[in-house]
Amino acid sequence: MKLESAPDLFRISKGDRITKRDLYDLIQFSKVRSSSFWAGEEFSIGNTPQQGINWVGSVPQVKAVIVKTRNGSYADDGWSDTKKTAYQYSFKASKGVISYKDKANAVLINQPQYLYPVFLFTECKDGWEFEGSFSVSEIEEKYLVLKRGENISNAVDFDESEYQEGERKYVTHLLAERSRSVVSMLKELNDWKCDVCQKNFEKEYGVKYIEAHHKIPISSFSSKHPVKSSDFALLCPNCHKAIHIYMKKLDTDYEQIATILKSQLALEE
Ligand SMILES: [Zn+2]
Ligand SMILES: [Zn+2]
Repeated sequence: MKLESAPDLFRISKGDRITKRDLYDLIQFSKVRSSSFWAGEEFSIGNTPQQGINWVGSVPQVKAVIVKTRNGSYADDGWSDTKKTAYQYSFKASKGVISYKDKANAVLINQPQYLYPVFLFTECKDGWEFEGSFSVSEIEEKYLVLKRGENISNAVDFDESEYQEGERKYVTHLLAERSRSVVSMLKELNDWKCDVCQKNFEKEYGVKYIEAHHKIPISSFSSKHPVKSSDFALLCPNCHKAIHIYMKKLDTDYEQIATILKSQLALEE
């Protein structure tokens, strides 16, 4: 398979092989207007061809991330299972230090927020083999896990995890909830009042239910960042859904959206 320009990346299929020269040239010349690889600003590829992580379009809302893995370059990298559904991939470090703000790492950390595909290439005899489209399913301190398919592009919401405990049910965002410390935090709070509509779910419906919305943008996520109750808003399912719909429409923070919703609810009364 020969890549003529960046849009071709979206047409290749699993198992397709491309030469190192071809991918190198595509990345290098996609940014050059006079080149045959040029397909417009939106398809120019960020980072240099020698790097393991590149991205199509401009950060933060890129069209796709390209990950190239060489055998043995990071000892812990590799497939997590024989069916090749998950791949463990180390964050890029500079002089042994990982910066989550580094663009190459940030485009991977931001994937669950924007849901663009991660195209995974592994080194093979004749060049690069395309392994398919992946999404980020786990983020640890030094590495992340890429999972085949799932949670790409037109998914409607962040991936969420549910925890049921007796009569209580908690819903948290996948990335915010890493150590289950969010759940224990919610247990301690023992609060069922929605931050937006102020209704108490237990009083309204007779069941103890609440959802935790992570107010800190995932882009500023750091695995060293301890879970604090002030990072979360407790919301009923309706208000939580509304917050997410607004988050997609407006590029603004939780507090501002909550203010909009509160005045919206006040108008209805
Ligand atoms: Zn509510
Ligand atoms: Zn939320």
